[in-house]
Amino acid sequence: MADELMNFVNGGWRKSSASQTLAVNNPATGEVLANVPLSPPSEVDEAARAAAQAFLQWRRVPATQRIQYLFQLKGLMEEHFEDLARSVTIENGKVLDDARGEMRRAIENVEVACGIPTMMLGDFSEDIARGIDEYMIRQPLGVSAIIAPFNFPGMIPFWFLPYALACGNTVLVKPSERTPITMQKVFRLFEQVGFPPGVVNLVNGGPETVNAILDHPAIQSVSFVGSTPVARHIYSRASATGKRVQAQGGAKNPLIILPDADVEMTTNIVTDSVYGNAGQRCLAAATVVTIADADKIFKPVLAEAAEKRVVGNGLEAGVQMGPVITPQSKNRILGLVQKGLDEGARLLVDGRDARIPGYENGNFIRPTILDNVAPGSTLARTEIFGPVMSMIHMDTVEQAIAFVNSGEYGNMACIFTSSGAAARRFRSEAQAGNIGINIGVAAPMAFFPFSGWKESFFGTLHGQGKHAVEFYTQTKVVVERWLKEWSRQF
Ligand code: NAD
Repeated sequence: MADELMNFVNGGWRKSSASQTLAVNNPATGEVLANVPLSPPSEVDEAARAAAQAFLQWRRVPATQRIQYLFQLKGLMEEHFEDLARSVTIENGKVLDDARGEMRRAIENVEVACGIPTMMLGDFSEDIARGIDEYMIRQPLGVSAIIAPFNFPGMIPFWFLPYALACGNTVLVKPSERTPITMQKVFRLFEQVGFPPGVVNLVNGGPETVNAILDHPAIQSVSFVGSTPVARHIYSRASATGKRVQAQGGAKNPLIILPDADVEMTTNIVTDSVYGNAGQRCLAAATVVTIADADKIFKPVLAEAAEKRVVGNGLEAGVQMGPVITPQSKNRILGLVQKGLDEGARLLVDGRDARIPGYENGNFIRPTILDNVAPGSTLARTEIFGPVMSMIHMDTVEQAIAFVNSGEYGNMACIFTSSGAAARRFRSEAQAGNIGINIGVAAPMAFFPFSGWKESFFGTLHGQGKHAVEFYTQTKVVVERWLKEWSRQF
């Protein structure tokens, strides 16, 4: 029988009293890896109280000392890098190189947060009136909750966590119940670092656990990443209780190819964007819009690249694409492909029958391309979150930009061209928070904000970098006067 995962509360590992657990399966093999408890609200309460208590001391630890914990964490993450990456592949299915990339970005966020003594600096203005000074300082909020999705179990909590801690907040992490194992490993590293009890807490669970977080009066902020309907729910319910909220939602990323794009580079980048992590990336390209002659040029080469992609267990050398997360997810994706066919699309590459020898219990779908997708169809508008490329043909860049801007989501939009003028216009007019120019996955480095727009983001300040510092601090402005003889009021 697989182990039951533990919660980490107030500096110690706790077995949950949950009445229900869920099996966590390896998506490539179907093997049960662990059982995750659906922790009840009482355990959220315990963690939130521990974090609130720890905050009273942690906020007083000088920033220069708080980052010493992060330096140690970075060292341990480097030491355990391969183990963490393997854990991501085993529970999520992505290929090992992608899992390594994920852990690298997690570490990069720790590195950036080590700059907090500078990033948290305030402002000072002398003599705003004769003998009176005014200054602004940044103070931490309190207890910060982080709620993560399944598709980047090692990285996404790190868009938030190092900044929250470095700014002097204490933290409660709720990983996805479908991929909770990597966070168990990360919390063992936190334990080794020796953060004071209650500074970092881990509570496993599902929607009931999340709702207890959203309603808890001791929690001051919520950072969420997941699907748009849940992001909307998180934003409204948590902000109704006065919390500061940043909620990143789903996506449907369009990618435009002009006839003057470099054929080989574009083909490689586009297929990596659509099929990397089996399409389960919020920055995966979903819709490929070919302009004018680009259709003739790119259709055959994209089809060939999709057909050639090696699908299998992400741990094996040479494999380029792993499974999707669950059998339910596979059925949903196949249902959407069928919906597209019913709406008049044509199968250019059919990956639906994806039996991988030796992995009969895996949730595999091979790369699929649907051509002739109507811009207004359900398929063109719905997030698929699987290895499916939808191709649309248009005559002009203007039409393509209008199509991009008609979408509900605004996570990413990309253009492939050798025309600086077309790229510049696209950059300026496309309504998305992350833009790629001859780039297929425009993932911001840790020192830039992860800038979703429209239905891809609810809130004001994004994750990572300076935005994270602003999110995790509140400003305090002090106006100060001293006795005449102590000031410059001569
Ligand atoms: P999800 O919304 O199903 O789950 C995310 C988290 O919300 C999980 O921790 C889950 O326990 C919790 N949750 C689920 N249903 C809930 C409910 N009804 N009430 C309260 N909490 C609930 O998302 P997922 O399937 O794990 O992840 C995939 C989605 O995440 C995709 O839509 C993808 O685009 C999105 N995503 C977005 C970004 C981004 O940066 N915008 C990044 C990664 C993933």
